[in-house]
Amino acid sequence: MYQNPRGTRDFNPEEMQKRKIVEESIRSIFQKYGYKEVQTPIFENLELFTAKSGETIINELYSFVDKGGREIALRPELTAPVIRFYVEKLQMKPKPLKLFYFGNCFRYDRPQKGRYREFKQAGCELIGTVNPEALAELIAMAYKILENSGLTNIHLNIGNLNVLSAIFKKLNLPKDKQSYLIPLIDKSMFEDLLEALSDFGISPKDSSTFLDILQTTDLNKIQEFVKTDKDAQEEILKLKEILAFLDNSFKIKNYTIKMSIVRGLDYYKGLVFEIEAPKLGAEKQLCGGGEYELIPLFGGKETPTSGFAIGFDRTILALETEKYKFPAQQIDAFIIPVSDDMITESLRIAQELRKIDASIDIDLMRRGISKSLKYANSINAKKAIIIGPNELEKSTVTIKNMETGEQTTVKITDLKNNFKS
Ligand code: AMP
Repeated sequence: MYQNPRGTRDFNPEEMQKRKIVEESIRSIFQKYGYKEVQTPIFENLELFTAKSGETIINELYSFVDKGGREIALRPELTAPVIRFYVEKLQMKPKPLKLFYFGNCFRYDRPQKGRYREFKQAGCELIGTVNPEALAELIAMAYKILENSGLTNIHLNIGNLNVLSAIFKKLNLPKDKQSYLIPLIDKSMFEDLLEALSDFGISPKDSSTFLDILQTTDLNKIQEFVKTDKDAQEEILKLKEILAFLDNSFKIKNYTIKMSIVRGLDYYKGLVFEIEAPKLGAEKQLCGGGEYELIPLFGGKETPTSGFAIGFDRTILALETEKYKFPAQQIDAFIIPVSDDMITESLRIAQELRKIDASIDIDLMRRGISKSLKYANSINAKKAIIIGPNELEKSTVTIKNMETGEQTTVKITDLKNNFKS
């Protein structure tokens, strides 16, 4: 017997039904905000990802040399592919360009609940502006997508990498030391962080101020701390504008300022945000995004960009954890030919009803009525249409309402009226 590879999953029809519902709900919100869907290949040239994230990313990738000797990688995310696509073919489009996508991603991660080697992301890129209202709309859309999917317990954290940089600068921590500290900050490993700061010769007083600033939710306090850094001041003023739009126009008030968001990605800058489902535990992060700079690296003309990616599988997990009631998949009717010589007419009736968009299944096993009714029940048919010789002689059929058990005789010519939505 064969098994699926480690870190991958099969989805049964019930799971697919949930996934389709959530996908449609996400797509509808992207469209409401004027975003248009794009699709890129599942594999790309490895270089695309090493250019963006450095050679060490290879350890986290599924990469291989193809039969033509090309170094290929299964995509670990979709921002690099979408920006490659933009630089190659979409640069002349009017701005802002609002693109969204769904796609499976592949990472050589250690699998656990909510962390897979093949997983799906839904995300978007906003190309052409990082005005405060543009970024506020981006954050609001991410939030509304998760809310509209049915989640009630989500939390938004907002940070800024330029401000974080200024905080590092104030403590005289150069880039190489920052790269050591960043993963500790990312994982909120504050004890290890203190130890590392002490190893770097930072005084206990400065270390404790650093930790305090990383953990405070008071933007004014942060502003005061980096008041000599012009860039950080500008970023904080812009952040305040973004927050005002979130508060006043989008009515999103459930957020926390969190300067310890690092996103772990070199090409991010400025605003960063994350949305989490606190009940999911270790893998609670549903969405991550912010401002970034990738277009010049890929050879395009510098243009401000931002975007986010939502972990689709974790969104489903979060909905299940909240015991969200997904509607069951139903079929409008199951047709039961009572005898073999009714099959031709039954198939014809099925086709007629499918033409008006009814979902129709039909007994293909030549079973008796009672077994067929049982099966109709098991596939959640709303109605059973029983087609027998006596009825057919009068050009009628019997419709059984599977929920109430009520039976009615209906003229075949009137049948369609029973299925018009
Ligand atoms: P990232 O591209 O790392 O910012 O990821 C964006 C989102 O994708 C995260 O917030 C997660 O929800 C989801 N995600 C990332 N890695 C995985 C994984 N291995 N399995 C499932 N979801 C993931």
